[in-house]
Amino acid sequence: KRRPFVLANWKINMEPREVGPYLEKVLPALADEHQVEVGIAAQDLYLSQMLAAAKGNPLTIVGENAHWEDAGAFTGETSPKALAQMGVEYVLIGHFERRKFFNETDETVNLKTLAALRNGLKPIVDLDEDLSAYGNLVPEKVVLAQLKAALDGVMADEMDQVTIAYEPTWAIGSGEAASADQAQEAAALIRQSLANLYGRDLAEKIRILYGGSVTPANGQNFLCQPDIDGILVGKAALNPEKFLALVDEA
Ligand code: 13P
Repeated sequence: KRRPFVLANWKINMEPREVGPYLEKVLPALADEHQVEVGIAAQDLYLSQMLAAAKGNPLTIVGENAHWEDAGAFTGETSPKALAQMGVEYVLIGHFERRKFFNETDETVNLKTLAALRNGLKPIVDLDEDLSAYGNLVPEKVVLAQLKAALDGVMADEMDQVTIAYEPTWAIGSGEAASADQAQEAAALIRQSLANLYGRDLAEKIRILYGGSVTPANGQNFLCQPDIDGILVGKAALNPEKFLALVDEA
């Protein structure tokens, strides 16, 4: 059975003075949490502090982005090699906001996915179902096209390192989450597509998360779906009590 994953995405929210108190609230509450994997994705600036605080605790620290080159003259970028060497385990790749505001494309998402894997980072590959980049393809086709493009060149024996996140553009930050049925349907299509690419056995092992306006009021609806293995939570997770409530639901 796939282990549920409850992941906060702080984006560039949280001030430096807020990081410590947030962790002080969350870490003790997670002390006996072994059934659910709990993580926080944060901006690079906070990762060292968070890694140190989380050491020996069941909290996974996640990067929000990494470049497709390991090192070199790329001012302002994040090296996937450095992230891995710092002890970061996962990195978000191709989040909707990266695609929308920073010109990430299926091609760069693919390069970044490969770079993460090459450096021993586990990519959480984000599919946003943004129709605008695909002319008149129907939404399901867009998600599957994004999936296929992101995984181009990823070998079957690397797929146990990969997590998929389905975060439809229109649900992110809008207060209008997908319905549980919609999200389950998309996750099932993604899993079927993974089975076509890598075989059913492997597809059954890969976690698929839902993200987009998840709150303690609707989290459970997603978490109980057969093909949804976790949630990626933005705004609600900025509040530690709400984040812990979502962990409890998993
Ligand atoms: P919200 O939960 O604020 O809609 O953000 C979702 C998200 O982008 C998580 O990656």
